Amino acid sequence: MVETFYVHLEFASKSGGLAVNLPFLCTKCGVCCTLEDFLMAGEVNAKPEENPQIHAKLKALYDELGKLLEEGEAKYDHYTMHTPCPFLKDKVCSIYPIRPEGCRQFPNTPFGMQTQDCQPLNRFKKQLSALKKGRACKETYHFTDASQEPERFTEKQYQKCIAKLRQAGITEDELALFHRFNKKNKP
Ligand code: SF4
Ligand code: SF4
Repeated sequence: MVETFYVHLEFASKSGGLAVNLPFLCTKCGVCCTLEDFLMAGEVNAKPEENPQIHAKLKALYDELGKLLEEGEAKYDHYTMHTPCPFLKDKVCSIYPIRPEGCRQFPNTPFGMQTQDCQPLNRFKKQLSALKKGRACKETYHFTDASQEPERFTEKQYQKCIAKLRQAGITEDELALFHRFNKKNKP
């Protein structure tokens, strides 16, 4: 199962408050899976005896990077910035169950939150500020495998959220995911 990252927002109010989930929809464009990002994401969670092919690939990669570094830092940087992660196959991670922790947590990482390259993430950040605008709230971050907290809202509150998300440029696919992540207690 591919995990979905989402933010759980809890707003306090006199009428009992509002709690809503805002999910992030990855379009699998592969932009965040460059070699540079992979190298910063942590270790591949696999034992050499269990995954000899992956380890052979990693060894070949590090040998190549070592040679490039000897030829000069500029060459090395250019290569890592412009080369896809060796485990990206047809825009899908071929080592998904054992991918590094940084990939696992993306976009909930310092790098993930700073990057401007992921268009869905840019939209997600806009949607998040539209929902939060001018209101104090408790914000917690989850993946779908974490236990979901109950959502609380009235139909009016829910429609207000949707209006704000539309203003922030939410796509129809993202809206469909938003409905799925909030349907549990939807009136
Ligand atoms: S750049 Fe964003 S949309 Fe593209 S694969 Fe990465 S997380 Fe998904
Ligand atoms: S290990 Fe997988 S998720 Fe991580 S950068 Fe490579 S292809 Fe992307």
